[in-house]
Amino acid sequence: MPDANPLAAQVREYFETRLPAMLARLEAWTVCESPTTEPAAVNALRREVAAAFIAAGAKQQFHADGTADAALELTVQGGTEVKQGELLVLGHLDTVYPLGTLARQPFRIDAGCAYGPGVLDMKAGLISALFALQALHALSLAPRRRLRLLFTSDEETGSRTSRPLIEAAAKGAAAVLVLEPGAGPAGALKTARKGIADFRLRAHGRAAHAGVDFEQGASAVVELARQIAALAAWSDPARGLTVNPGVVRGGSRVNVVAAEAEAELELRAWRLSDLQEAEQRLAALRPLDRRVRLEVEGRINRPPLERTDAIAALFLLARDCGRELGLDLAESATGGGSDGNFTAALGIPTLDGLGAAGEGAHSPGEYIRLDTWPLRAALLALLFARV
Ligand SMILES: [Zn+2]
Repeated sequence: MPDANPLAAQVREYFETRLPAMLARLEAWTVCESPTTEPAAVNALRREVAAAFIAAGAKQQFHADGTADAALELTVQGGTEVKQGELLVLGHLDTVYPLGTLARQPFRIDAGCAYGPGVLDMKAGLISALFALQALHALSLAPRRRLRLLFTSDEETGSRTSRPLIEAAAKGAAAVLVLEPGAGPAGALKTARKGIADFRLRAHGRAAHAGVDFEQGASAVVELARQIAALAAWSDPARGLTVNPGVVRGGSRVNVVAAEAEAELELRAWRLSDLQEAEQRLAALRPLDRRVRLEVEGRINRPPLERTDAIAALFLLARDCGRELGLDLAESATGGGSDGNFTAALGIPTLDGLGAAGEGAHSPGEYIRLDTWPLRAALLALLFARV
């Protein structure tokens, strides 16, 4: 590439020999299993990740009282012509796999791919950021802005404890890069994500003997079933609104009219207004059988990541950086949420899907592609230098 930008050419050249070191790191962090539900295991990984980033020039952030959160927060100084506003890099340390998964899903490399629990979502993404920092350091370059890296511990269960940390870290950020995997084997970047709302709908009826006093009973199960049928019809593919009654429970015995029943519902939508409207409709639900009482509880858990002009501009910058590296990057939208949903909802341009490319996240076949992984890490290095 005779007319390639010198910086891109240097970064690309640096990464031409990095794959073995990246893979060694990936194996080490994959065999350090880190399910959200095992804080001691996640902390063990957190210590390894902290040590690696500190060795690459990052500083770990602590609270004024010297304590750290379950999340790992690091900063990296910008260069001499540092821009106003930080660049926030979001990742998560936890995986969905219980301890012991490695025994039946070991880390392995086969036919240009690396397999193992959490390699794609998202241990490879954390390693991309680590090597991007090392690349800048090796080339005597600094990030254009001060970098703040926040790696959380409960993303896979909805980020309940880390959401305030993410929102605090995003204050003063000019942009956010998210290390979640790219979409599909081509690893498209993500500029839109659906928002998610979780609700529980309970029906309280009246128990009765199904043979002796049938008319005296008011079935919570029948009421709930009718409500679910109506709720499912709210799904609107054209708008991207989905209502999934994923879990249903109810009743006690087959010869008893059911006094209690409940459903767990998950709603997703591209637009916050659609979720808010559905939330209002849920709150206003009335029983079809007036003897049954309905109870609704729940909330919008992740607001949508809505594609703004600023997000589109950030994607175009990444696409151009990719072209200089010989990496062809498409743009995609996904129904899945990430921590990027929170920062985008604060109005901060957020580009997601910057981790590795691969498939099978959260499944026994989870893998990353090795042919594009170093180039995607090189892309991060360029973004650190240019955003
Ligand atoms: Zn993830």
